[in-house]
Amino acid sequence: MSSIQCPACKESQEINVSNCTNCRFPFTGSTQEKSKHIAQFINKKNVINDAEEALSRSKKILFLISGYNFLFILVSILSSTIEVDVFSISINLILGLGFVICGLLLKKSPMFCSVFPLGMILGLYTVNFILDPDLAMRGIIYKLIIVGSLIYSIYLLQKAKTFNKQFSS
Ligand SMILES: [Zn+2]
Repeated sequence: MSSIQCPACKESQEINVSNCTNCRFPFTGSTQEKSKHIAQFINKKNVINDAEEALSRSKKILFLISGYNFLFILVSILSSTIEVDVFSISINLILGLGFVICGLLLKKSPMFCSVFPLGMILGLYTVNFILDPDLAMRGIIYKLIIVGSLIYSIYLLQKAKTFNKQFSS
């Protein structure tokens, strides 16, 4: 069987197909349709690459924050000679585990595992701010970077999602 390479996705296709079975490139379409498809295909690849990069960045952030939670637990256990603050330790344990689990499941359900930790972080910062505004302002740039990059990830994921829908129809 003779085959032809798809100009868009580079997959090998049978010579008589009208659309690429992988990316739906219109072999029988007009030049305009063909170039439109290739432009869309490249665009899609970039959007998806961006979303994938955002995911691995989010994963690092989630592990970093959970590391901070566990470090807090360790330090408070080691430094409290008289009384261990069970409440703070429990909160940090729950948050730390939540971040780790979301980080691990990020590839499986990207949207939920990005939105949920963002909600936890925003909730935590809000509570911190109400309880102790001065303490909450400490490391504010670090906090803004975390929140900002999680929001940006969610934006890129959403973009990839709508692009996928548009492209496959
Ligand atoms: Zn193709």
